[in-house]
Amino acid sequence: NNREFQVYLQPKISTGTEKLGGAEALVRWIHPTEGFVPPNRFIPIFENNGFILKLDDYMLEEVASQQAKWIAEGKQVVPISVNVSRAHFTREDLAEHICEIVDRYQVPHDVIELELTESAFFDDKETLLSTVKKLRDTGFSVSMDDFGAGYSSLNSLKELSIDVLKIDADFFRGADSLERGMLIVSEVIDLAKKLDMKIVAEGIESKEQVEFLTAQECDLIQGYYYAKPMPLAEFEQKYNQN
Ligand code: C2E
Ligand code: CA
Ligand code: CA
Repeated sequence: NNREFQVYLQPKISTGTEKLGGAEALVRWIHPTEGFVPPNRFIPIFENNGFILKLDDYMLEEVASQQAKWIAEGKQVVPISVNVSRAHFTREDLAEHICEIVDRYQVPHDVIELELTESAFFDDKETLLSTVKKLRDTGFSVSMDDFGAGYSSLNSLKELSIDVLKIDADFFRGADSLERGMLIVSEVIDLAKKLDMKIVAEGIESKEQVEFLTAQECDLIQGYYYAKPMPLAEFEQKYNQN
């Protein structure tokens, strides 16, 4: 109501061309007295008290409305992804609910991507599978977030047909295991390509990582090396000029 929650966008850059290929919407809480509050301070609380459902709907609505505005202005838009917390997967009409929000703004579904975490797989699998199918059938792109973090299981790739695999930043951290991480990343990219998925690498901070991922033919790179998440106005100014 007070618009204290704001959408920040972090660009995803295409390897090779280094052009904007997409963006992820990340929430920021601009609190009247506390100031800037990062999501890791309130998302876990919202996940516990259920408020995450409202927040994610709000983010989706803000992104749909922004895309509609840019399209009306004749700007070329890129797909923007929003995070869908696993708590949503208890509702069987989730896909219809998402369609309903996006259709209020009459934007084509292919400019919206939905990021699910692998952990959603450990709840109601049937709801997850049918929701993802419905979303993809109606033209949304679906991605698996944080692949390789936490309870990673290759089995989820077997059962779930999705469009995009987001490789977790963890693979690129820790000097001791870096070489092993890189080996795994290159094999995961290969595997994802064979499964006809696009690959996004997250948390990329260095030129060496960018060069490595470009050589491996990773599709998109998201990370501080290119840009941190930024307010909509700044994103528009930097990336969205006709
Ligand atoms: P995530 O979905 O994995 O988002 C990526 C996080 O990595 C973001 O943190 C982003 O700022 C950070 N990041 C990107 N590039 C780099 C880099 O090069 N280096 C480092 N160190 N970090 C990088 P952020 O924005 O703090 O968000 C943290 C988490 O909070 C997100 O992780 C996501 O799980 C959750 N979150 C954020 N916004 C939302 C939302 O609207 N809904 C839901 N359900 N969760 C959200
Ligand atoms: Ca995400
Ligand atoms: Ca992630």
